This record gives sequence, structure tokens and C-alpha cells, in this order.
Amino acid sequence: MKAEIIVVGSELLTPDSSDTNSLYLTHKLNEAGCEVHLKTIVGDVQKDIEEILQQALQRSELILFSGGLGPTMDDRTRAAAAGALKRPLVPDPEILEDLRRKFASRGFKMSPNNERQADVIREAEILENRLGTAPGMWIEEANRYIVLLPGPPRELQSVFEHHVLPRIRKLSGGTRLETRSFYITGMTESELDTQLAPIYTVYPRIKTTILAGTKHISVRLYRWLRPGDDIEDLDELASRIQEKIGPAIFSTQNESMEEVVGRMLRESRNTLAVAESCTAGMLGMHVTRVPGSSGYFQGGIQCYSDTAKTELCGVPADLIRTHGAVSAEVAEALAIGVRNKLHASIGLSITGIAGPGGGSPEKPVGLVYIGVSDGVDTLNRHRIMPGDRESIRERTTYLALSWLRRFLMKKTE
Ligand code: AMP
Ligand code: MG
Repeated sequence: MKAEIIVVGSELLTPDSSDTNSLYLTHKLNEAGCEVHLKTIVGDVQKDIEEILQQALQRSELILFSGGLGPTMDDRTRAAAAGALKRPLVPDPEILEDLRRKFASRGFKMSPNNERQADVIREAEILENRLGTAPGMWIEEANRYIVLLPGPPRELQSVFEHHVLPRIRKLSGGTRLETRSFYITGMTESELDTQLAPIYTVYPRIKTTILAGTKHISVRLYRWLRPGDDIEDLDELASRIQEKIGPAIFSTQNESMEEVVGRMLRESRNTLAVAESCTAGMLGMHVTRVPGSSGYFQGGIQCYSDTAKTELCGVPADLIRTHGAVSAEVAEALAIGVRNKLHASIGLSITGIAGPGGGSPEKPVGLVYIGVSDGVDTLNRHRIMPGDRESIRERTTYLALSWLRRFLMKKTE
């Protein structure tokens, strides 16, 4: 079933607030077998809302409204929908009574403008709102379904979950969206697409999306299934992707890199200590976001200055003088040093130039070195990271985690 979402609220057209209701609705609708093919955000202007609904009735079977059901003058959805559907608004005595009760129970007297919330579009079904005052509405009009939902996210979710979802499930006759997801590191988006495009284009019924972020690249496969359809082609494409880029995939379960690395450390009975120069704590922060990280994380040292590198991580001052603080030699010495200082089985280090100042032709802004040592092998790796200071720091943090994952994979081969 083709669905369309109309989000009402002038505040959502300012830079100060953003629409999250449609994300929730899209997620739930997909699960229930409806594809969202259009979203509109419109201000609190009755004529605009009315026009959009008139257009929506031409193209979509299911039309969901979010917002604009409140008691104030700027809540125009009810009146606009009544206008577009050419149906009158009728006060509903039961809702009025219920509103009065809700106000009285909280010790307030209801003001006259709240009475507008009891206005119902003729022949609409009322959708009870347990968490607020404005009820939702379900309207049927010439094979179209129009749903009005309150704007406050908790109320919208509660009304949708209890009253709308069951109706939609029935209407969509068992259609559902099946998805597969892959989180990938160690490749660029274009490298990845060069490898995968010849494979996924063979499956036109599966929608494939590739999205690059600072933490990883995600590849998602979407396939609409009707009752009786099988998911063979989806599983086949998923396993062909696995075959092609297997080691670059770190999760198919939406797990973060820190969770994956944490699991590997725990399973291999390793402990970790980190020495961070240009990220100064970011790496430790991400490692410890995972519940249970105390089981393998020993701690970290923020060795920002040369003195800190020497005093806290035991890097020889000479080494820094000869090669510079941002160098392969210092990265390795930091990994060894922090491993020893904090009695961990693995030391992981970061040193680099986050900018915007401090770069040179030989060592440009974005140059980062990562060191890792388990007492047997000590290795380093470098990259020139794109972006501004913050994104260099964040990308480097994730590169270090990603590289630790590779290191652990080699060790357990
Ligand atoms: P309303 O009664 O529709 O004017 O909405 C009341 C409040 O709900 C707004 O002031 C917002 O804080 C919140 N809200 C409304 N629409 C949305 C939306 N699309 N996404 C997230 N929050 C919303
Ligand atoms: Mg509003």
C-alpha cells in the first residue's frame, strides 16, 4: 500500500526543531508492509494543509497527518482536513466530557479553546489518546484512508501503536519489508560501489543503498514481500556480498565497531590500554560506551604533549626529537609504552595532526599514525584523514578501532 506522510507545524520549518515523527512512522509503516513514497512538511496554514491533502488524495491510498490537533489557534489540521474532504466538523459530546474529566483530574478548569479538540470530522472514527488531550482520527473516503495523529511524539506513538497499526496490518494483507544490513570499514564508498554494483544490479527487485558516515559505511538491502514470496534472492545477494568483501564487513546485526571489538577482546581474553595524543580520550570514551567494557579495558593515557608522551608512556625523548611526535616510531613506542604502564595485553595508540594549524608539506593536517602492540608484534599504520578537526579526530578513533579488529583477526586466524 502506498503511504504518504504530511507533517504539520510551523516550528518544523525553522532551523530550531526537526521532524522526527515521520521517521518513526516510516519505520513502523515499512514493517507493516506500507511503502512511504512522499513526505511533506507544512506550516500551520489551513489553506496550505488543505491543498496538500487534496493532492494527496489523488496519489496515495494511506495518508497520515502528524500534528496540528492541539487547542490553540495555530492548530489547523482538523479544519483543513474537514475542508479538503468537504465534511463538517461536529462537536462530540463524549470527547468533550472526557476532556473535562482529564482537566478536572489534574485540578484545572478547561478553557473554551480546548473545546475545539472535541470537534470531529463527520463519520471519522475516534482514536483514543491515553497520553494527551487531542484524540486522533481515522477517516475512510473513496478507497482512501486518512489518519490524523497528535504531534507530541509520545502521544503520536501511543495512538499509532494502539489504534492505527492493527488497522494497517489488516489492510496490507501480510505484505512486509525484509532488510539486510552490512557495516563496513577499510574501504572508500566508491571502492565499495565498484565492487558491489556489478552484483546488486542483477537483483532489480531489491533496493540497495550505500551510505558513508564518519564511523563506517553501511550497505542496506530492502525487499518488499507479499504473502507467498520467498526471500531466496535476498539471501543470495547477501551471501554474494559476503563472499566479495567479507573481511571488510564488521557487522550484519547493526552492532557498532566498539561492540564488535569489545566482543573480540573478551573472547580472545585480551585486555586493552590506549595512548591518545590528537584524540585525547575519544578512543577510550568510545571503547567504554559498551556495557561490560571494564572486563577488558584497562584504561587510557591522554599524552597530548611531548612531555606527557615521555613521562607517562615512556617514549624516549630522543625518539620524538629525531622522528617527530607524529611518526611511525612514536606511534609504536606509545603502544608499547601504554601496554607496559597499564599492564594490558594489547596497547593501541593514536598520534596525528588534527589541525587546522600545525601542518607542513611533509606532515600535512590530517596525517595520523596508529600503533598497536601485543608484546610479540608491534605494528603501525598511517593515513591522511579528510575533513575538519572534529571529523579527523572522530575518523581516526574509528580507524584505530577498525585496525585493532584486523589485528585481532590475524591473531586468531
Ligand atoms: P502540535 O500539537 O501538533 O502543535 O505539536 C505539539 C508539539 O509536538 C510540538 O510543539 C513539538 O514539540 C512536537 N512535535 C510536533 N510535530 C512533531 C514532529 N513532526 N516531530 C517531532 N516533534 C513534533
Ligand atoms: Mg503545532
